[in-house]
Amino acid sequence: MYQIAFIGLGHMGLPMARNLLKAGFALKVFDLVQAAMDELAGEGALPTSSAAEAAAGAQVVVSMLPASRHVEGLYLGADGLLARLKPGTLVLECSTIAPESARKVHQAASARGIALLDAPVSGGTAGAAAGTLTFMIGGEAAALAKARPIFEAMGKNIFHAGPDGAGQVAKVCNNQVLAVQMIATAEAMAMGVANGLEPAVLAEIMRQSSGGNWTLEKYNPWPGVMENAPASKGYSGGFMAELMAKDLGLAQEAAQHSGSSTPMGALALQLYRLLLKQGKGKQDFSVVQQLFVE
Ligand code: NAD
Repeated sequence: MYQIAFIGLGHMGLPMARNLLKAGFALKVFDLVQAAMDELAGEGALPTSSAAEAAAGAQVVVSMLPASRHVEGLYLGADGLLARLKPGTLVLECSTIAPESARKVHQAASARGIALLDAPVSGGTAGAAAGTLTFMIGGEAAALAKARPIFEAMGKNIFHAGPDGAGQVAKVCNNQVLAVQMIATAEAMAMGVANGLEPAVLAEIMRQSSGGNWTLEKYNPWPGVMENAPASKGYSGGFMAELMAKDLGLAQEAAQHSGSSTPMGALALQLYRLLLKQGKGKQDFSVVQQLFVE
């Protein structure tokens, strides 16, 4: 069993680390928030006072941080973790960050003989708690083979997306499609209801017809159509609009980098920014429905 350093015990990191403990891995943990470490200490993790202390002696480092700048801050530079880790250490970087930023960290890692995988996730906090996350992984197949038991303790679907940064590219592609589907569904629901249809009837017709998509199957944005969807709980829980805006921004950065034309993604980002300006960033991303109703 590997000795693992887990850095970043937020909404996602804490339940992921908990699943590693349950699977029997030895964990040293670090977060800027002491309370998060205290919570896991009772379950067998060893809290530390810095990322470097957590990583000392670890064969594997897992990180789950908010954004690119946090990840670059943790790993790069003379004081960064990569400068301290022993060659041969395995780094599983699970945060959602810009593919370019991931490639930068990959390069610095390989220059030191450290195998790094970018491994962003899908499945939200519920998937993190249940250990059913989807991992989209970029990097060497040999490193993934070594890391597989660790990913399997936290997730259900483990995809090798391709070389360095490919996991991040897959993640932003997926979330761009999700946002566009959500917006398209929300505007159609509003138009249908404004023209006299019952929301549940319209939702079911579209779900079973050629307009059917994931949001109509699992996550209808119209309140009351699906009992357990965030829309029926005041748009609480689920995946926050501000995180969707972040991912759409990363998708635009990737499109800029490759010169790709992504008009739907660009429009989706603008609509989510508008929601943030309306103070709805902390609500579930299906709250985009409210842009289309009076
Ligand atoms: P979060 O803000 O709840 O957690 C981040 C944690 O990192 C915090 O506890 C913070 O204190 C800690 N942190 C920040 N800088 C640190 C540092 N230098 N050293 C140690 N700890 C540090 O965020 P989250 O919701 O857990 O999301 C983490 C990542 O997962 C993000 O990149 C997010 O986009 C992605 N993600 C989130 C969800 C979701 O539903 N929340 C779903 C999929 C992917």
